[in-house]
Amino acid sequence: MSPAAGGRILETTSFILKQPIVIAIDGTSASGKSTNSKRVAKALGYVYVDTGAMYRTLAWYCLKHKVDVQDARAVAAACRRWKPDLCCVEEDGLRRVRLLVDSYFPEKEIRTPETAAAVSHVATVSKVRDWMKRTQRDCIQFGDLVMEGRDIGTNVFPETDFKFYLDAHLEERTKRRTADGVNENLAARDQRDSQRATAPLMIALGAKVINNSSLTSDQTSELLLSEIRLRLGGA
Ligand code: C5P
Repeated sequence: MSPAAGGRILETTSFILKQPIVIAIDGTSASGKSTNSKRVAKALGYVYVDTGAMYRTLAWYCLKHKVDVQDARAVAAACRRWKPDLCCVEEDGLRRVRLLVDSYFPEKEIRTPETAAAVSHVATVSKVRDWMKRTQRDCIQFGDLVMEGRDIGTNVFPETDFKFYLDAHLEERTKRRTADGVNENLAARDQRDSQRATAPLMIALGAKVINNSSLTSDQTSELLLSEIRLRLGGA
């Protein structure tokens, strides 16, 4: 039937769906990932995701429930059991993702030396990494992301065009941690993170490497932002 004869013309509208952008910032411990990821997220109005905090939260949960963190099967079982909630909160003008355990975010507990010593053991368990990857990819529901970690560009969002790898000399990184009042063996943690079988810490293909040993935080975040804006302009 033609429209003239009373048929209805169905209008088709084509939508261009905008894919959320993920900025992946990986690197060694105390290389300035958190400070700079938060600055970049704030400047761009993106949601900040600290994936290290997610692994730390599971490590804390294991310690709290007396799970031996060196026993991969026990850790995998704990990861199957726990039922944390993923949510997005706003703090000081920064939107950020949190994992809540029974509506509680163990902010202080995940920064203790005990949790720091346990976390890289928990992070070697491949079932844990599968769970983390799924959960971290789910964060896209909150919008464009700046996600920091160890395997974001290589494993969690390998498809992103925005990959960065931060590093600094060990002495400089140790100095920064000590200035924060934290005394820990960064070299041992880096070694465990780089040598594990599943999704080890490494430089993603196409990542821009920034060694910020002699840079201030301002200089590092400016470098990141200018590179991101350049790539956004070209996108
Ligand atoms: O970044 P942060 O120091 O809080 O990370 C704590 C630990 O969590 C790392 O040393 C690493 O063992 C683990 N981690 C990981 N993959 C990520 C983020 C953190 O294995 N994407």
